[in-house]
Amino acid sequence: MPQATPKLNAFPVFMRVEGEAVGIVGGGEEALAKARLLAQSSAVLRIVSDAASADLLAFIAETGATYIADAYDAAHLAGAVMVFAASGNEALDRRVAGDARRLGIPVNAVDRPELCDFFTPALVNRAPVAIAIGTEGAGPVLAQMLRSRIDRMLAPSLGPLAALAASFRGAAEKLLPKGNARRRFWSDFFGGAPARAVEAGELSQAHDAAVGLLLSNEPASGHIALVGAGPGAEDLLTLRAHRLLMEADVIVHDALVPEAIVAMGRRDAERLPVGKRKGCHSKSQAEINTLLVELGHAGKRVVRLKSGDPLVFGRAGEEMAALRDAGVAYEVVPGVTAAFAAAADFELPLTLRGVSSSMVFTTGHDLKGNSLPDWAKLAISGATVAVYMGRSVAAEVAGRLIEAGLSPDTAVAVVENASLANRRRFHGTLADLPSLEARADLSGPVMTIIGDAVAGANFERSEPLAAHRQESVARAAAQGVSQ
Ligand code: SAH
Repeated sequence: MPQATPKLNAFPVFMRVEGEAVGIVGGGEEALAKARLLAQSSAVLRIVSDAASADLLAFIAETGATYIADAYDAAHLAGAVMVFAASGNEALDRRVAGDARRLGIPVNAVDRPELCDFFTPALVNRAPVAIAIGTEGAGPVLAQMLRSRIDRMLAPSLGPLAALAASFRGAAEKLLPKGNARRRFWSDFFGGAPARAVEAGELSQAHDAAVGLLLSNEPASGHIALVGAGPGAEDLLTLRAHRLLMEADVIVHDALVPEAIVAMGRRDAERLPVGKRKGCHSKSQAEINTLLVELGHAGKRVVRLKSGDPLVFGRAGEEMAALRDAGVAYEVVPGVTAAFAAAADFELPLTLRGVSSSMVFTTGHDLKGNSLPDWAKLAISGATVAVYMGRSVAAEVAGRLIEAGLSPDTAVAVVENASLANRRRFHGTLADLPSLEARADLSGPVMTIIGDAVAGANFERSEPLAAHRQESVARAAAQGVSQ
């Protein structure tokens, strides 16, 4: 037998209030809270109190609400479409509720559910869209928690998008037959180019895109979002990245992006891993470019998920060029890059007044030639250097920087798995850095930060790099291998 859906004891409806009077009786906190809630609508507030607090008076002055500075009388309710008994005084609230009932006006009495004809919801306001949350007695904490959760899920641009949709309703109904064609138009409108243009603040472009959709019979064009997934911790994902993930038809992700983040997509979204873990088979960059172009041409909404920030050592340049050449629309969503996550894990100031005023993002893989790359010169002049993919070139980086004049005592911080629960932190000097290469115990991604500013970090939770250097020297000596 199918289970019966639990019944609601309060049924949500949206009540017209534009230009209508809403009475609020009371002069304290309760009245102010209701007034603030109602001020999100275009109702005309009528506040009745012979003892309004300074805050309520300031609110009245600010919003232009009608203020009746008098002891309450039933006549004050005349013509109101709803009434709030919010005096904080039980006898008065009862009187107000009784009067409202006699006059046929729905009433809400604050904190007295037995006197209420209706309850007020927790409200997510993206006017003209409203999401009202009711919890029927489970309490305001739950309602507010849900409110903030829902609020985070919805783009701030939802309001203007809905307003634009309203302006297209008539035309869509006139030009498109009811059924599939009209449904497809609206789904492309809310999930395609018009929605993206509104989100980017380009209202006239959004209007043009909607006109284009209305007049063409073509299926909607695809769109690729190059999205930064951050360094690994799920809650370092941006709200925008999260939203796009939930809207995507296809998620194309790198190996460094944790499963928990990829799983945030819709359950029915297609998930395509494209590499690259060292040594494992993965698609070549050219294959990835082709895949993205094909998905775009097939009209898919794609999230191309990259670890950290997509524009930092993420080969986004090649992907964007391919998409541009193929005429596929795309956007870029920034993420927290590994250097920032590693610095946070170490409480390490990347710039430090009087010590370091610039920073370098490098891989260190360009140190092999004869001439010193520019970033090495910057390092010598005091820049903080973040080395990506630097484990296998640690000795080269240290050796060349020391040779070029950077002190071997320069501070170094290393973080494996920055931002994640299994992170490991190491500290030492440039002279200790080569020991990184020999460490078989580091299997996660490693970020190295070099510079005088590193000395300002917190080393309480990190292990010295040198300890390992001595160990490995000892082990090598025991094995009769010279280091
Ligand atoms: N686009 C990424 C970098 C990709 S290159 C970003 O902005 O962070 C891959 C390198 O990033 C790794 O070799 C490592 O040096 C670094 N990295 C990525 N995630 C890391 C993490 N959680 N901890 C430490 N280093 C990380």
